[in-house]
Amino acid sequence: LQLTLAIIKPDAVAHPIISDAVHQRILDNKFLIVRSRELQWRAKDCQHFYEEHAGRFFYQRLVEFMSSGPVRAYILAHEDAIQLWRKIMGPTKVYRSRITAPDTIRGHLGLTDTRNTTHGSDSVESACREISIFFPDFDVS
Ligand code: ATP
Ligand code: MG
Repeated sequence: LQLTLAIIKPDAVAHPIISDAVHQRILDNKFLIVRSRELQWRAKDCQHFYEEHAGRFFYQRLVEFMSSGPVRAYILAHEDAIQLWRKIMGPTKVYRSRITAPDTIRGHLGLTDTRNTTHGSDSVESACREISIFFPDFDVS
């Protein structure tokens, strides 16, 4: 089984109906929940997590948003978990997810290009990095 890191972002954690809907999608798609925790990020935690986007026009907005309230992080296991979770999330941009993928998490629940409900790792390397950021005691190797 492959592992991925999924995050329910603050826009969704703030509304239990929304975060429950995301949690239900995790269960419906038969992911194994290996670990889960809720935490409040500081701005510098977000800057570190999203350092690959430093300098992009949305970076400041993203850092402020991701530190604006609690997030819930999951380690999920499934065959081809990384691609499967990203498919269930749908496209990053809300206009695209609403129109081309209304049945995805972002198509259904995303608010804007930044407040797009969930995160998912995009490669095996980023999954290892992101899991160790959120779950430093978890042995990813
Ligand atoms: P994530 O990494 O959260 O799974 P992603 O991989 O689909 O999303 P990235 O390009 O890695 O998208 O961007 C990371 C996050 O930055 C996005 O999820 C979104 O919150 C924000 N973001 C990305 N592009 C934009 C944009 N054009 N405008 C506003 N916010 C953006
Ligand atoms: Mg990404």
